Amino acid sequence: MFKIKSFQCKHCRGQIQGRSDKLFCDDLCRVRYHRENNQLIRVKSRVDKILQKNRSLLIAVQRTNKAISNAEDRAFWLRRNGFDFDFHTHVVTLSDGRMVIMCYEEGYILDGNGVIPFSKKNTPTDSTPALPATF
Ligand SMILES: [Zn+2]
Repeated sequence: MFKIKSFQCKHCRGQIQGRSDKLFCDDLCRVRYHRENNQLIRVKSRVDKILQKNRSLLIAVQRTNKAISNAEDRAFWLRRNGFDFDFHTHVVTLSDGRMVIMCYEEGYILDGNGVIPFSKKNTPTDSTPALPATF
């Protein structure tokens, strides 16, 4: 007995029959799939740009650490230069219980209304993060 092989539509997961290289039920599913995929790519790109900018600003604020020694001034400097405090990659807990808000390997510790910069590059190991020697 001859059986036609069926496949799943990449958009609606419905069964499609016919050619083995067919990916969608119809043009509507194809267009919707690509539109949604493009929206996701745009969102990821926007978030990645914000995270990269935040990371760059955290590196820059560490370099200006001697010039801007006040934690509140550092937070103001970051905000003024476009740092977006709503975006970060992860949170690290230090051995003293403080939380470091990270953008990749760079981060900051909230200190009242200010921030203390933090870099994983300055820590001895990933399992025991500590403050950089400058603090
Ligand atoms: Zn479909």
